[in-house]
Amino acid sequence: MRIRDVLRGKGDRVVTVSPDTGVDELLGLLARRRIGAAVVSTDGTTVEGIVSERDVVRAFAERGASVLGERVGEICTHEVHTATPQTSVEQLMRDMTDGRFRHVPVLVDGRLAGIVSIGDIVKHRIDELETERSALEGYISTAR
Ligand code: AMP
Repeated sequence: MRIRDVLRGKGDRVVTVSPDTGVDELLGLLARRRIGAAVVSTDGTTVEGIVSERDVVRAFAERGASVLGERVGEICTHEVHTATPQTSVEQLMRDMTDGRFRHVPVLVDGRLAGIVSIGDIVKHRIDELETERSALEGYISTAR
């Protein structure tokens, strides 16, 4: 299974924020959209970083409430691990586990073409296992 199969189910929409966005505004966005991370991008297609709720927690633990007055560009991760639609789901699961991150932007020709979270991967695997189970049950009952 490939990442394109996961994106087929969830679509290619990606929530982005510009590096100039305030951290207070970012928190409102994450809460409203019920997401844990946003891709940092000025033009909405080129990845400049990724910012997750963990970055806010870390900065808050270090500097306290003043982090709310900072910009996303100051707290985000700039070296972003990305995937392509051809990346295998197994490879991405390994990368997420090794790198300890739960979000991976998907790029086509250097432009944003989706994002996959660990929740999307878990959902995809459960659907896959359900399909396999139904097929096996059908096989067993017709073999009797
Ligand atoms: P997450 O588990 O995705 O909420 O993120 C945990 C930490 O990893 C945060 O510091 C994020 O900025 C960073 N992070 C999240 N996704 C990625 C990624 N695809 N590549 C590199 N760092 C990431």
